[in-house]
Amino acid sequence: MVHILGAGIAGLLLAEELDKRGVSWTVYEKAERVGLEASGKNAGIIRSYETDSVLAALTEESLAYYKASEPTFDLCGIAFCPWEIDYETTQHSPITLVNGKKGIFLANNGSVLSLEVLSRLVGQSYSYGSIKMQSEASVAVKDNRATLVAHASSVSEDDAVVVACGEGAIAITKALGRPLRLLPHLRTIYEYENTQGYSGPIQWDEEAGSYFKTYKDILIATAGEQLPVAPRRPGEVDNYEADPRSPAILAKLFPALTLDALKGFRSCRRLMPLDNRPYCGRDKDLPNLFWFTGLGGRGMSIGPALAYGLADAIEKNEVSPLLEALSPSRIST
Ligand SMILES: Cc1cc2nc3c(=O)[nH]c(=O)nc-3n(C[C@H](O)[C@H](O)[C@H](O)COP(=O)(O)OP(=O)(O)OC[C@H]3O[C@@H](n4cnc5c(N)ncnc54)[C@H](O)[C@@H]3O)c2cc1C
Repeated sequence: MVHILGAGIAGLLLAEELDKRGVSWTVYEKAERVGLEASGKNAGIIRSYETDSVLAALTEESLAYYKASEPTFDLCGIAFCPWEIDYETTQHSPITLVNGKKGIFLANNGSVLSLEVLSRLVGQSYSYGSIKMQSEASVAVKDNRATLVAHASSVSEDDAVVVACGEGAIAITKALGRPLRLLPHLRTIYEYENTQGYSGPIQWDEEAGSYFKTYKDILIATAGEQLPVAPRRPGEVDNYEADPRSPAILAKLFPALTLDALKGFRSCRRLMPLDNRPYCGRDKDLPNLFWFTGLGGRGMSIGPALAYGLADAIEKNEVSPLLEALSPSRIST
């Protein structure tokens, strides 16, 4: 049996993968429904342009998963204006973004409707496990093994425990004395009516830290705010007021994002590891404990490949070189 803490994209993809392999699992989710944290609120961009080769390979693998499994997946391009590019030497043909800046066109990216991905993962029929909602869980140590602490759960000697609970992982790192140094960042997504009927590729101005994409009949955008914040205490909610400067910045950057088309905003947290690489693998001391956290701004992009690799580690004790690079043991002090 594999006990998974958290029904975000990480926990649910792992459950799906274990189920395909005939491995018993249970997901424990503290909220009353899924999608209240980053996994249900993000921009849903599956971005294959990566300077980190490990993350690039994981995205490539994940694109194949979405193409095969996700009805809302759309293979799309990104008109991208990167920080560091030499337009004289790049193999990409220069293009012009809608804001007039010079950029490149990146094919083979993707877009999904994040909340619908979660709904599919929750709603599909499973043979080997179930999801327990309103079930907050934690991890304790007994006889050099991790045990799950959750209402009405029984854990046997052979069980594995997976920490896949986003920001909730910080409390567990503290309780177990693991210095994973995960830092929450608050980010905001703005929603606009698509009044001008924009239907082109995602527009991404990296210099400004801003992008927008079409999402059903609306446009979603971020102005690139990234606020490091303290982890929330139990029961504490974010009541962040969006930065009033951001819609004005977006309106200036992208002609389709006019102030009168703005419908609303939502903020959520990205859990950033110091080296920008997630933690996905076995704990350094407790052989039955696994970490699947610190997905930063890439949980949708690389989640499927990570879930596949972690299922191999749990089921067969096999660790691919990609997952080796994401081992929680890489941080030792
Ligand atoms: C504004 C914004 C835009 C983004 N855009 C993109 C994008 O375009 N592409 C991309 O790839 N990524 C994007 N991301 C990043 C992506 O959303 C995250 O990496 C991903 O959702 C993290 O998933 P998770 O499952 O680790 O965590 P979460 O989504 O936080 O899920 C964790 C779950 O665990 C539950 N939980 C917490 N503690 C406990 C506990 N003790 N017991 C039981 N349950 C618990 C929580 O309630 C939650 O449901 C974006 C993030 C933000 C904030």
